[in-house]
Amino acid sequence: MEILENIPLAQYTSIRIGGPARFFCIAKSEQDLSEALEFACEKNLSVFMLGGGCNSLFPDKGIDGLVIKMQNTEFKKEDDGKFMVGAGVGLGYLAQESAKAGYSGAEWCAAVPGTVGGAIYGNAGAFGGEMKDIVEEVEYINAKLKTPAYAKASAGKQNSKLKVNECEFGYRESIFKKHPDWIIWRTKIRLKKGDAAQGQERIKQYLSKKRSTQDLISKTAGCTFKNFKLPVDLKFLEHLRKKLEMEENDFKVIIKNGYISAGFLIDRLGLKGKKIGGIQISEIHANFLINTGSATAEDVVIMMSLIKEKIRNHFDIQLQEEIQTIGF
Ligand SMILES: Cc1cc2nc3c(=O)[nH]c(=O)nc-3n(C[C@H](O)[C@H](O)[C@H](O)COP(=O)(O)OP(=O)(O)OC[C@H]3O[C@@H](n4cnc5c(N)ncnc54)[C@H](O)[C@@H]3O)c2cc1C
Repeated sequence: MEILENIPLAQYTSIRIGGPARFFCIAKSEQDLSEALEFACEKNLSVFMLGGGCNSLFPDKGIDGLVIKMQNTEFKKEDDGKFMVGAGVGLGYLAQESAKAGYSGAEWCAAVPGTVGGAIYGNAGAFGGEMKDIVEEVEYINAKLKTPAYAKASAGKQNSKLKVNECEFGYRESIFKKHPDWIIWRTKIRLKKGDAAQGQERIKQYLSKKRSTQDLISKTAGCTFKNFKLPVDLKFLEHLRKKLEMEENDFKVIIKNGYISAGFLIDRLGLKGKKIGGIQISEIHANFLINTGSATAEDVVIMMSLIKEKIRNHFDIQLQEEIQTIGF
């Protein structure tokens, strides 16, 4: 496996922003990953993981460390609707292949760009499905322990595994966000027996719905902010309803499972289309930031703080980033 130097990261992200990685490699096998981690250890480098780059923002100055692009693309059907899936497998591939094989539950993955590893990291979801619903077990490697001495001592031993209930999955959350040294290597997915034709049809519908509501062809990292979990506080809810200038019934309709959409709030402030430098709030989906061609990470950071400030001042709501800012 080759370790490259000064590789521009913009090309590996969907928003096409980011300076060079001092070191960069692609890990296709456990051997590749071990070599990469040993290299990082010898040179005392920080390690940063990258999947499809569809939810990541790297700084303009780049990354002073080793960026490992995960490309474990193993995909094996086991018994009873179980699939062993590498962290580098595309979500679209998982959706298509499992549906074709007559299994149901992963169709929504077709509508989410990126890899299985990135999706586990952030418990990605769409159309009512989330990774937590289809993951049975996650196999990971603790990069911190992967020193040459450890590698020798642990040769032949199995990687660490977490059962789904140990992954601390929540709305766009997982235990992996708390442990930046844990590298997701592969996962066991559990699906239900279904009908192949119906599965394909569902995928088509999800993709068509997604295309009509989101800016999928632009350079973007998807939703910038998480939807906001509303407190169980009638006074606050009434205050928010008034701020939104909505009737009670209309207000109830926009609250989904106790959350209010960040995009909806941004839209209500009339921010769609707002531009700072090369970054623009999408005209189609207010929670998407679009790189119009020359955007920098700095533009994105300034835009994010402007949105947060406006939402805080107007609605008393503190938005949290869904985008992963890496190495800032
Ligand atoms: C047009 C568009 C639409 C989108 N729609 C949705 C949607 O409907 N629902 C949704 O949930 N998301 C959506 N997203 C966001 C994105 O698709 C998901 O967050 C996806 O899971 C990111 O996967 P990735 O492989 O690209 O992750 P990356 O961006 O590569 O990485 C994301 C984070 O995961 C970490 N990571 C990646 N791989 C590993 C690994 N193997 N081990 C440890 N850490 C790792 C990275 O370090 C980073 O912190 C959308 C994005 C775009 C561009």
